[in-house]
Amino acid sequence: MYVVLLGLPGAGKGTQAALLKDETGLPHVTTGELFRENIRGGTDLGKQAQPFVESGRLVPDEITIGMLLDRISQPDCAGGCMLDGFPRSLEQARALDEALAGKGKRIDRTIYISVATDELVCRLSGRWSCPNCGAVYNETSRPPRTPGICDNCGSRLEQRKDDRPEAVRTRLEVNLKNLEPLLDYYRTQGKLCEASGEGPVEEVARAVRACLEGER
Ligand SMILES: [Zn+2]
Repeated sequence: MYVVLLGLPGAGKGTQAALLKDETGLPHVTTGELFRENIRGGTDLGKQAQPFVESGRLVPDEITIGMLLDRISQPDCAGGCMLDGFPRSLEQARALDEALAGKGKRIDRTIYISVATDELVCRLSGRWSCPNCGAVYNETSRPPRTPGICDNCGSRLEQRKDDRPEAVRTRLEVNLKNLEPLLDYYRTQGKLCEASGEGPVEEVARAVRACLEGER
């Protein structure tokens, strides 16, 4: 069973994938990890991806898809896996379907963990870090004992420009614009299941599991 996890940054895909992996044994395959492993392992695809990754440019789709196909043909993915981080656009979804079809495989289900943009802005813009020791805090989920001060070393915490609410909102809006056609694509194929990503982690996990089990 090949599952694609979809959701905006901050929706909790990583957390849910980790929970599901423990319960179902389905490996969590992220593009970040694929790039790191292929580059570290010196594979042909890794060598092709390296200059893009190192310069922060987008890795071309055919390289990423090549890595995905390699990864899902490994023994631990024999029973399926959860893809996270790819596809991110309609073009990528089409290319992935085509490549999978060539191997006699297909995406069975996509799970969209939906969270309202305002909530995501709250989650993502609450991040503060310590310029001295690198500790990271979150206003709501992991606040420092004294507001604005690092627990470890007592330095004054800073907020990166990228983590300020306006910047976060702009980033989310760009992401959403790419995500919407992707959701429509999988919805039309009858493969999309939506799980609310708001509320406690366990509640979200129940909704995601229901999607996985095809109960909805
Ligand atoms: Zn510190």
